[in-house]
Amino acid sequence: MFMEFLPESGALSPDVSCENCTTQNPGNRKFCSQCSFPIGGTDDEQRSFRLLVSSRKRLLGDANDKIKGAKTAIYILAGIFFVFGGIAGLVNDDVPTLVVNLCLCILFLIFAAWSTKNPFGAILTAFMVYLTVQVVNAFVDPVSIFSGLIIKIFVIAAFIKGIRSAQEGQGYLKELEKLKAVPVDNG
Ligand SMILES: [Zn+2]
Repeated sequence: MFMEFLPESGALSPDVSCENCTTQNPGNRKFCSQCSFPIGGTDDEQRSFRLLVSSRKRLLGDANDKIKGAKTAIYILAGIFFVFGGIAGLVNDDVPTLVVNLCLCILFLIFAAWSTKNPFGAILTAFMVYLTVQVVNAFVDPVSIFSGLIIKIFVIAAFIKGIRSAQEGQGYLKELEKLKAVPVDNG
């Protein structure tokens, strides 16, 4: 008489492995306890979950491309500071300008390396330093505002896109973490 109740819970609904995150769930569950994949849902519900994951992965990929663009801009700036400092030092015998530009070169190399770990902080900081340098240059030599204007526009656009994408990327990554679908980081 007592035995009648025992087999009920487990035996009738064996555990089901979630196809999204491989967590074992009781077979009667509609949603995975870890990632909320609709294991007991309809084909349509499962398909829309997969679409959500793949769209977030694509958006994260797009954001990472723009972050890479900003990183490239930071490397280019490091190169410009290096060349500019070199010319100032060797051709004009201008040691202070040489030292300042070499320091900026090293600083931007550090920002580029840092952007792999913390794209938002690194790109934002690099942008602030870059703007400060432009303002100082404009005070020292007002004509400098117009020199290399196309490069400046390209750099500023890359910075702004990179900062925005770094912010969006953090959001997509959080969503994917919730969905237990964090893409493998390949640099
Ligand atoms: Zn799951």
